[in-house]
Amino acid sequence: MNPNWKIETKTIQAGYEPGNGEPRVAPIVQSTTYKYNTAAEVAHLFDHPEKGHIYSRISNPTVDAFQKKIAVLEGGVAAVATSSGQAAVTLAILNLCECGDHVIASSSLYGGTFNLFNYTLKKMGIEVTLVNQQAPMAELEKAFRPNTKVLFGESISNPGMEVLDFEKFAALAKKMQVPFMVDNTFPTPFLCQPFRLDANIIVHSTTKYIDGHATSVGGAIVDGGNFNWANGKFPAFTNPDSSYHGVKYHEQFGNLAYIVKLSYQLVRDLGTLASPMNAFLSNLGLETLHLRMERHSYNALKLAQFLETHPQVAWVRYPGLPSSSSYALTQKYLPLGASGVLTFGIKGGRRAGEVFMDSLELAAIVVHVADVRTSVLHPASMTHRQLSDAEQKIAGVSPELVRVSVGIEHIDDIITDFSQAFDKINI
Ligand SMILES: *Cc1c(COP(=O)(O)O)cnc(C)c1O
Repeated sequence: MNPNWKIETKTIQAGYEPGNGEPRVAPIVQSTTYKYNTAAEVAHLFDHPEKGHIYSRISNPTVDAFQKKIAVLEGGVAAVATSSGQAAVTLAILNLCECGDHVIASSSLYGGTFNLFNYTLKKMGIEVTLVNQQAPMAELEKAFRPNTKVLFGESISNPGMEVLDFEKFAALAKKMQVPFMVDNTFPTPFLCQPFRLDANIIVHSTTKYIDGHATSVGGAIVDGGNFNWANGKFPAFTNPDSSYHGVKYHEQFGNLAYIVKLSYQLVRDLGTLASPMNAFLSNLGLETLHLRMERHSYNALKLAQFLETHPQVAWVRYPGLPSSSSYALTQKYLPLGASGVLTFGIKGGRRAGEVFMDSLELAAIVVHVADVRTSVLHPASMTHRQLSDAEQKIAGVSPELVRVSVGIEHIDDIITDFSQAFDKINI
């Protein structure tokens, strides 16, 4: 692959380079295991799993091609593809934190991440402090403790629709000597590349725009290779790993230390690698990422503008609208578009919301965002229903909030559909 290619070209060409006479498309290697001629070769691979495939819980050629492409698109050194976005966030954190450690995260979070941070990590002895990402740096700094191991935020929060202040978060993480981890699910590397904004680790739910067609649940962790693990705060990277022949990740793997450690320890022990079939489908979706993200962003802005003028709509939240509190950050960090998800408040309470959603003909009610088809969802009664009212508020979810994932159908048809569904409310 030519490293000077533009991202549109890499989206199609990166990750897999067939040899003479080999399949043009990265094939689905639907095999749990791999044959070798000598016991010595297999023994060697147990010591150096990065040098070949031995078992598909650890690595697989189809998954490998997908991982390589994501790493290239994000400008990272390497990636691991996981069975879900939740698995990606979990592994990414567990690779840094153990019992007794502390995480600081923006409170404007995806519901699943919110639950993971507040309940499941807590049961493992990892404490998470949620902060208001709009607070000034000096105030955010007060949340840090000696055992804080990572600063976490979503580049565009789901469903809060807040754009992360990369400059502030990166400066804070640097000052406190912890890695800056970004969930880049909503913009995708086509619209935003967090490593260029001094992030150190990126996580994705590839279930969303990367697959883009609602076929495969998946996730990814990308290592920026740009954090100094030998700064004294991360002994697990510098001390020998007794579960792996005493390997010292920082010393032996340099700027690949984070992703190799994650793969050697967590992928091996927790078994959450992506499946070959899902990696194949996600990779296929990824090939049109650049075209889709342009259209998603275009359609979402048009729909947001329509909603802003509609009498049935109380408010609209879309980072690409000048009325958004994130508009300045959008202009700074998302010059190509603000992705395809927006939220709005519907007037008339719960009943109006139900009539509206039930009356849509083109847009479907699904618990999903970010595929080619337009869909709607009511977070308070669906994705965020396990959160208490107070927790919903912290996560930016109010009872009248409708979340729209704007697809890539013709915008006129989407607007016509919304318009007729609003009309049904007052019949
Ligand atoms: C969906 C989502 C996740 C979780 O991903 P799954 O693939 O559903 O496990 C994490 N972060 C964000 C921002 C998401 O939208």
